[in-house]
Amino acid sequence: MRQVTLLGATGSIGTSTLDVLRRHKDEFRLHGVACAKSVDKMLEIVKEFKVDVVAMSDEAAAEELALKLKANNLFAEVLKGDSGVEQLAGDGVADVVVGAIVGAAGLKPVLAAVKTGCVIALANKEALVMSGQLFFEEVKKYGAKVLPIDSEHSAIFQCLPYEAQIDLGYCDLRKAHVNKILLTGSGGPFRDTPLEDLKHVTAKQAISHPVWSMGPKISVDSATMMNKGLEFIEARYLFNATDNDIQVVVHPQSVIHSMVSFIDGAIMAQLGQPDMRTPIAVALGFSSRLESGVNQLDFTKISNLTFREPDFERYPCLRLAMQASLSGQAATTCLNASNEVAVDAFLNNRISYLDIAKVVEETLNQMPYATLSSIDEILQTDAKSREVALKIVETLAC
Ligand code: NAD
Ligand code: MG
Repeated sequence: MRQVTLLGATGSIGTSTLDVLRRHKDEFRLHGVACAKSVDKMLEIVKEFKVDVVAMSDEAAAEELALKLKANNLFAEVLKGDSGVEQLAGDGVADVVVGAIVGAAGLKPVLAAVKTGCVIALANKEALVMSGQLFFEEVKKYGAKVLPIDSEHSAIFQCLPYEAQIDLGYCDLRKAHVNKILLTGSGGPFRDTPLEDLKHVTAKQAISHPVWSMGPKISVDSATMMNKGLEFIEARYLFNATDNDIQVVVHPQSVIHSMVSFIDGAIMAQLGQPDMRTPIAVALGFSSRLESGVNQLDFTKISNLTFREPDFERYPCLRLAMQASLSGQAATTCLNASNEVAVDAFLNNRISYLDIAKVVEETLNQMPYATLSSIDEILQTDAKSREVALKIVETLAC
């Protein structure tokens, strides 16, 4: 029986993870769950999975949950605040910690889990974008193992040989005879919208992704293709790749989830339904396979698979992310923080869709690029970037 802790249990990835775990209750036991403030969802999870510990970053919500657990005769330890979430992540009980908190908030809990030397099944790409190099130094130091949940990275992972799969962060792509990693993305809901109409795009339109059903932040990131930019940086760290090793390809149908081409001209692709339960099952089951509840693809119903180059005029955030990737960790931390601020302002109708890229670009211009050599320095750069980005939002706010 493997013990699992699920960070971000009430979100989109969290819910899909619970569905996979539900199908394998004799192989996995849910030890702990963490979220921000969804009291009723947490209550249901405790009822169903009889977890030992729950942690909520929102202290008032944690207190409310504790009362509701008591009223329902349910027993689980309740931890509160960011420190409570970190305490659960680092308690050392879980064999696998699923990192599915959204944004920079996931970094410290995931690092606490790394220190226990467990398997980290990672969805929280922002954590890697901020800390990639230092993150993998910690992984090595504490003997942890990282497995990707992000669907593209899971696809690439599945196309790579076993020696590379068990050495993420350090694998040698040359030894694996890799020519290129082909990172695919749907291009989001505004792929074919005339450029002059993008200025009128609303938050509601931006979060209606044509293929995937996801949380609000990543949905906006998919529309701007900042998501692909973050994934480009994530892929660099996970697969120990250079910028030249990775090519972004727009693939509107999202049937192929990414590919790897090899020196002999062969290309391996991973295909499947756009359902995150597949990559979650791959990470939880590795190196075996688990039934996930996902239907098989029916090739007789797929009429065509198309591909195109990304258009940087339509997707300036993708360009900014690829440039930041070349500049280093201070730039990628700043990119991520300013994007989180900009997306939040857009979702709250404070700035327009096109302002998201402006906020990120201007923040990157204003921030100095020191070398970051500790997690504290990364967190300081994250905080400073948010301050700068917020000021820029004020000047643009409608
Ligand atoms: P979501 O908004 O649906 O859920 C986020 C979860 O994080 C919720 O449970 C929320 O309560 C929790 N959370 C937020 N702040 C927290 C804090 N300070 N402490 C503890 N918990 C906190 O987001 P999502 O779509 O599930 O995405 C989660 C992560 O997975 C993101 O990093 C995203 O980029 C990545 N990801 C998501 C998908 C997808 O299909 N949804 C695909 C690939 C990668
Ligand atoms: Mg993805």
